Amino acid sequence: MAHYKYLIIGGGMTAASAARGIREVDTEGSLGMISRDEEPPYNRPPLTKALWKGKPFDSIWRKLDKYNVQMHLGRTIEALYPADKRVVDDQGESHTYEKLLLATGATPRTLPFGGDEIIYYRNVDDYRRLRATTEQGEHFAVIGGGFIGSEIAAALAMNGKKVTMVLPGKGIGDRMYPPELMEFVNSYYREKGVDVLPGERAESLERDGDKLTLRTQSGREISVDGVVAGIGVEPNTSLAEAAGLSVDDGIVVDELLRTSEPDIYAAGDVASYWDPVLGQRRRVEHEENANKMGRHVGRVMAGQEEPWHYMPSFYSDLFDLSYEAVGDIGTRLETIENWKEPFRHGAVYYMQDGRVRGVAVWGAWGQMDAARKLIGEPGPFGPEDLKGRLPEANGH
Ligand code: NAP
Repeated sequence: MAHYKYLIIGGGMTAASAARGIREVDTEGSLGMISRDEEPPYNRPPLTKALWKGKPFDSIWRKLDKYNVQMHLGRTIEALYPADKRVVDDQGESHTYEKLLLATGATPRTLPFGGDEIIYYRNVDDYRRLRATTEQGEHFAVIGGGFIGSEIAAALAMNGKKVTMVLPGKGIGDRMYPPELMEFVNSYYREKGVDVLPGERAESLERDGDKLTLRTQSGREISVDGVVAGIGVEPNTSLAEAAGLSVDDGIVVDELLRTSEPDIYAAGDVASYWDPVLGQRRRVEHEENANKMGRHVGRVMAGQEEPWHYMPSFYSDLFDLSYEAVGDIGTRLETIENWKEPFRHGAVYYMQDGRVRGVAVWGAWGQMDAARKLIGEPGPFGPEDLKGRLPEANGH
């Protein structure tokens, strides 16, 4: 049985950043990391973006050598006993801790058909599998038009593949982009050769030799060489729940990222934290949240007890369109658009009762601090008040 001063469950970006945070404060204390993944921690964003644009595969790995972490790869923790400060892995081995971090991430939702034929795109093995399929295959179906769907469809098309997107909603990113912007993105993808099929629900998948036939609710049959799905994720809370920790969508943490049990912390995709500016609990499934919250929780665990008040941003690349966003980005909110160049360069403000709840800046970078400041202001704001607030983003 191994004992650690700090034990991290999970081996993703949050876990890697937590190791860094711990070592910034405590260079000595023993540190263990237990991950279900067979691979050591790596960055996930390149799996849908940079690796398809020629960046070398080896650039994805996180460099943890200097942090002196005892890694346990390919192990799943099956039980957590807070009273004993002990976890048990799938090989029956116990590990004890003084401080535990749950950075257990999230698992892709799956469809009720297709089994392993569908690549639910999440980890490096999914990347390898899709890459290998593209060696021979020419036509790919992408189910879902959220982050994974939109980014991987663009990546495949940029690599000369025929892509058909099957989307139950009105179009790409319809939960985030206001209607005209969404229509623009749909047209942009079509110009790039992607067949975008809104209002289509995939219903079944059958293999016949090298080919797969995807059938949709409307009776359409699409013959493809591979199918990728990105239909959202579920936070991995079952270990915490079974151990009696407070769970509500994610693992509930306080402003020091502590769970309801002493000396157990949670961070990353799985953590539900209080955002004091938005005045609500949030669970954020993006890179900056993983990296910044991970580092923060590591520092807190090692004794640097500062509250987590940061509002993480996120970004996406859709061919040569790109945007960066912060706060609550959802088309259920009212939106105010302010374009320098329609749909390519400008800002979308997501509003509620005259307050800015979220901002997406298209075609310009470095605006997120100004956007955070705006979200923190009481308003009320109308379209005229927002002009000029983000110098690199606003129209005049
Ligand atoms: P997502 O962004 O939540 O998008 C899920 C999409 O799947 C939505 O468009 C949804 O449509 C659709 N959908 C839901 N059920 C469906 C069904 N039965 N059939 C077809 N489509 C369905 O999730 P994701 O794209 O799977 O991404 C997974 C996670 O990785 C997310 O947490 C995401 O934030 C993260 N990620 C982030 C980035 C980034 O920050 N750039 C990049 C890649 C991945 P409706 O809206 O109509 O329900």
